[in-house]
Amino acid sequence: MAQIIDGKQIASELVAEVANGAQAIFSEYGIRPGLAVVLVGEDPASQVYVRNKVARAKEAGLNSIEHRLPADTDQATLNALVDELNADEAVHGILVQLPLPPQLNEEEIIARINPDKDVDGFHPLNVGALVVGNARLVPCTPQGCLIMLQKTLGDLSGKHAVVIGRSNIVGKPMSMLLLHANCTVSIVHSRTRNPEEVCRQADILVAAVGRTEMVDAGWIKEGATVIDVGINVTERDGKRKLLGDVNFADVEPVANAITPVPGGVGPMTIACLMNNTLIAARNQLS
Ligand code: NDP
Repeated sequence: MAQIIDGKQIASELVAEVANGAQAIFSEYGIRPGLAVVLVGEDPASQVYVRNKVARAKEAGLNSIEHRLPADTDQATLNALVDELNADEAVHGILVQLPLPPQLNEEEIIARINPDKDVDGFHPLNVGALVVGNARLVPCTPQGCLIMLQKTLGDLSGKHAVVIGRSNIVGKPMSMLLLHANCTVSIVHSRTRNPEEVCRQADILVAAVGRTEMVDAGWIKEGATVIDVGINVTERDGKRKLLGDVNFADVEPVANAITPVPGGVGPMTIACLMNNTLIAARNQLS
């Protein structure tokens, strides 16, 4: 039977480390690292994410500041808020919750955030720094996946890692992190021929697709380690359930280790956001 990788537990440990770091900053400078979270509109999933992030920030000893704007906010108003947060010395990290309503230009907002405060790690400067192997602030979800892999497997050198998905927020940065950890990396996407065959070669499989239980045991090499990033809200047996991109019951008997959904990648994403806020605060204060 596979080891179940306990994302909740590893995330709690990381948040406790962040709390120690935040306390050290408070002792030295008399301030708490500040995280500004901006939510535009009423998207229910975004509201849940923001609520969780704000609650976790408090637990980590961070000062979290929430800005809620109406769904019809225009670009100039959001730009002005980002400018204000960039200039605010009490704010060390800025997170604008995505997706934004359609009238707003996400790329423009991401590029407007001061890269030193870009705790999501999406600013082109931070993306470039990651690619050239000089990472500054790294996207939270792939960073959380990497931490779980290293806790489970130790050194990842020489392992064949297959990442399903090539989005800017998960798939691409995940592939870069695995490459820098000396894995041999393959990326599977919607145009890949024979994706199952590619995935069956993986020592490490990271699924970040957004398709409920797409990956079953036929995609898995015996003894592989499987990280399921997917969060798919599904109706099953008349109940609302969160399911991953991996069919857990099918894959678990074949894998060496596997993350559950929920309780795997999700808590790690939030813990890494707290950690990025601490890193950003340290950098700005030193
Ligand atoms: P995107 O929709 O941006 O990207 C999905 C990727 O999957 C694309 O690169 C797409 O390929 C690829 N893909 C789609 N269908 C197939 C297929 N049939 N075979 C192979 N590849 C396919 O999603 P995200 O990266 O933003 O998110 C992925 C999942 O992770 C979602 O379920 C999301 O909810 C979840 N998520 C979870 C987080 C967490 O904290 N746990 C955080 C962020 C996301 P192509 O590029 O060719 O279209």
